[in-house]
Amino acid sequence: MTTVRVGVNGFGTIGKRVAAAIAKQPDMTLVGVAKTHPSFEAREALRSGYRLYVTGTGDLAAFDRVGLRTAGRVEEMLHDVDVVVDAAPDKVGQENLHLYQEAGVRAVFQGGEKSDVAEVSFNALANYAAAKGHRTVRVVSCNTTGLARAASVLTTRWEVDHWEATIVRRAADPAETKRGPLNGIIPTLQIPSHHGHDVNSILPQLHITTTAVVVPTTLMHVHVNNVRFRTGPKDAAELVEALRGTARFHVFARWEGIQGTPQVMEFARDRGLGRSDMMENVLWEEGVRVDGRTATFFQAIHQESVVIPEVVDAIRAMFDLAPDAAHSIAMTDRALGIPPPP
Ligand code: NAD
Repeated sequence: MTTVRVGVNGFGTIGKRVAAAIAKQPDMTLVGVAKTHPSFEAREALRSGYRLYVTGTGDLAAFDRVGLRTAGRVEEMLHDVDVVVDAAPDKVGQENLHLYQEAGVRAVFQGGEKSDVAEVSFNALANYAAAKGHRTVRVVSCNTTGLARAASVLTTRWEVDHWEATIVRRAADPAETKRGPLNGIIPTLQIPSHHGHDVNSILPQLHITTTAVVVPTTLMHVHVNNVRFRTGPKDAAELVEALRGTARFHVFARWEGIQGTPQVMEFARDRGLGRSDMMENVLWEEGVRVDGRTATFFQAIHQESVVIPEVVDAIRAMFDLAPDAAHSIAMTDRALGIPPPP
C-alpha cells in the first residue's frame, strides 16, 4: 500500500492529536512533529517514538539543555515529507505557508486561519471530493465542522430553506489557563457571527445565520439549531434516524442519563478513545423536535478532537488514496476506534 509521509508542525491541542491519528493510519507514515519549546509535551512526543524537530522561534540548544533529543529544525522535517499538517496557533499557519512552498510540500491548515490560506476549505461529509488533487487544504474550525456535518446530512435528504444556529462556545481548552471568562457570558457582538460564513466556504448554497456567546466552560461547545425546510423530515424520529445512521454522529437516548456536556465527557472518559476524546457530533434524542416545516435540535461539539478525523480525510482526499468520502471516513474511523453507525 502507498503510504503518504506526513509531518506535523505545531504540537499543541490539535497537533498532538493529529500526530497520534496519523500514526494509526495504514496508508500514512508519521515522519515527525515540530515544537517551539521544550515541555512535557515534547518529552511525551519522544516517548511516543516520534522524531522531534524545532520550529518557529524555538532554539535547538534549549532542547539540548534539558536532554530532549531533536532531529533538527522544521525545514529538515519538511525535506522528508509529502504533506505537512500545520497546527500552529491562529494566523501563524499563514506565516508558515512560505516554508511549505519553499520545501515544495503540500499543506493542511486548521480553522484558525482565514479561508484564503488554502485552495479549498474542507469537511469530509460535506465536500470530500473538492480537496482531491489540491496542494493546500484548510480543515474548518471545530464549530464549523459540527455545523457542516449536520448540514450535509440534512441537505442531502431534504430541502433546507434557512438554518439558524446559536453557538454556545466554550471559553478555553482545559489546559489553557490564561483565557477566560471565569465568570460571565460574553455575547459575540458581530451579528451574524463568522461561523455561518465559514460553513458557506464548504456549503456555499446553504442559507445559514449564526450568532454566538462565550461561556465559562472548557468541556465542549453546544449548538442550538433551528432549521426551516421547504421539504423536510415528517417527524423527529426520522431526523434522529438520519443523524444516528451517519458516521461521526453519536445520539444519546433519554435512558442514558446524559443531561449535558459533563456527562458527555464522562462517557468519553469511560469509553477511553485516545485522550478520552469525543470526535463525533453529539445529540440528545429527546432534544430533537420537528414541528411542521421547522426542526430544532441541540448538538455538542468536543472542540479539542472533532476536527482530527477530518484532517486525516483531508490528506486522503488530497492524495486520492480512497475512492470516495465514505471509504475514507470508514478507514479513518476504524483506525481511530470511532464506532461505525449502528
Ligand atoms: P495550541 O496553542 O494548543 O498549539 C499550537 C502549537 O503551535 C503550540 O505548541 C505552539 O508552541 C506551536 N507554535 C507556535 N508558533 C509556531 C510556529 N511558528 N510554527 C509551528 N508551531 C508553532 O493551539 P491549538 O488549539 O492546537 O490550535 C491550533 C490550530 O487549530 C489553530 O488554527 C486553531 O484555531 C485550530 N483549532 C483549534 C481547536 C481547539 O479547540 N483547540 C479546535 C479546532 C481548530
